[in-house]
Amino acid sequence: MTIMLNVVRSSWCLTRRLATSGASTARKQHSSSTDSNAPIELEQNPFAKDKVQCVLCKHGISPDYKNVQLLSQFQSPYTGRVYGRHITGLCKRRHEQVEREIMKAQNAGFMPTYHKAVEFLNDPKLFDPEKAVRPHKY
Ligand SMILES: [Zn+2]
Repeated sequence: MTIMLNVVRSSWCLTRRLATSGASTARKQHSSSTDSNAPIELEQNPFAKDKVQCVLCKHGISPDYKNVQLLSQFQSPYTGRVYGRHITGLCKRRHEQVEREIMKAQNAGFMPTYHKAVEFLNDPKLFDPEKAVRPHKY
């Protein structure tokens, strides 16, 4: 290494070589034995964004028509309407599941249609209906 540095000491290439060799020693050295100028293989993308998951996918919960307490959290306490995806933040798959299970629970008589069940009114809120992604009328 010192011999090579002596050869190119006064040239512009020196700084380039030092920069690349310093970067390669800082990262994992995959191809240091073959060529020091070879591109470095990274294990993962350092600019990758965090994976965004909805609250049901994050905890691995699939909604069920018998779990009325969970389903009522996605229902408006005033009109009984199911909140949209722009309010709940659910992904499309889970939102369709929630809607289907709420319909099933209402048809089975487990859930009220035009209001939220009174015993679940003090449940913790999963989202704020006042701060939706886009404005809404309910
Ligand atoms: Zn999801």
